[in-house]
Amino acid sequence: MEPILELKNINYAYHNLEGETKALTDISFSVFPGEFVSIVGPSGCGKSTLLSIICGLIEPEKGLIKLSGKYLRDSTTNIGYMLQHDHLFEWRTVYHNVLLGLEIQHMLSARSRGHAHELLELYGLKQFEHAKPSELSGGMRQRAALIRTLVLDPDILLLDEPFSALDYQTRLSVGNDIGQILRDAHKTAILVTHDLSEAVSLADRVIVLTARPAAIAKEIKVTFELEEDTPMCRRNAPEFKHYFNLIWKELNTNA
Ligand code: ADP
Repeated sequence: MEPILELKNINYAYHNLEGETKALTDISFSVFPGEFVSIVGPSGCGKSTLLSIICGLIEPEKGLIKLSGKYLRDSTTNIGYMLQHDHLFEWRTVYHNVLLGLEIQHMLSARSRGHAHELLELYGLKQFEHAKPSELSGGMRQRAALIRTLVLDPDILLLDEPFSALDYQTRLSVGNDIGQILRDAHKTAILVTHDLSEAVSLADRVIVLTARPAAIAKEIKVTFELEEDTPMCRRNAPEFKHYFNLIWKELNTNA
């Protein structure tokens, strides 16, 4: 199978008047269609920088990126980005927030509006379509932000700490929810997180980064023998502790 994303020897440093901050060293990995990859690493190691490079917001100093076999600049692969804060606009209803990306990309049509309604229904927000974001719970807001991204039908979804602004209990349930939604939709996703439990509960593979400048310390394939492989069931499975400890050890060796 051809990877949907391929990174080879990516290096990046920030430059300002005080000098240079090296952020990434020689990062190479591939992601395959339908795969869920979690990237973990110490705070400030370069995780967000890596996502910004993958979606073309910043250009690497060295190395190459291919999307579905094409160089990033020639690629038509559609990338969705979901951030820590939902960035919903209070002056728009939930439905009109969900349409925002479609509007910006001039993709509003009867069909895409219909798709937005379908997703709102599918993910339990139908009755809040006309509500303002402040009328939703934190978890529902994050779900609305996900729908705003999914309605653009991204081939790859980049998730930058998308649950970290939520309280612990909501975080567990939204993580479970969103993980399940993405799996059912067979979406390829890359999740950046500093929460090891979250990484293990959601991923097919975990990439562990070293402290800044980030290099890959280890890639760990994650498999669970479960009848129902959901993030919540994983948290209670015996393998969970094994993967958690493996990643914890790796992070502490490379701190
Ligand atoms: P993480 O997402 O792992 O917390 P980041 O990718 O945000 O880390 O940042 C990696 C390093 O690069 C940090 O030390 C940060 O201070 C530095 N950095 C991030 N953005 C900039 C910038 N615009 N200018 C200078 N340094 C930056």
